Amino acid sequence: MMTIITCPTCDARNRVGPIAQGIPRCPRCKSTLPWVVEADADTFAAETTASVPVVVDFWAAWCGPCRMISPVLEDLAKRQVGHLKVVKVDVDANPGLATRFGARSIPLLVVIRDGQEVDRVVGALPRAALEQRLRSVLAA
Ligand SMILES: [Zn+2]
Repeated sequence: MMTIITCPTCDARNRVGPIAQGIPRCPRCKSTLPWVVEADADTFAAETTASVPVVVDFWAAWCGPCRMISPVLEDLAKRQVGHLKVVKVDVDANPGLATRFGARSIPLLVVIRDGQEVDRVVGALPRAALEQRLRSVLAA
């Protein structure tokens, strides 16, 4: 599955597929791209295989707190560009993944490093608390 990621430097629209090693860069200006993608049951394994920590965001359209978390994650992906990948999973469209990760309550963030879950955050934390929590995980 390809994701369109707009380059924050030159506005080029780039098609980005899963990258197991390394990070996506804009072919035009070579800037590192903020890495936020969507995944489903078919693409989840490939999209969560990355050489940077992956934050999986289990969300749903009807979930108000999820809409508070998403911009924080997208912001973090921009500011910590090259250091993390955000993978968004719609639990309504992907009940199998939701069950596999025990996503009974959303928002749920699962941090995966080298294919292993290393942390999870259940519920909506305030922006500052969420950023601090994720920063410490990403720095570990
Ligand atoms: Zn660019």
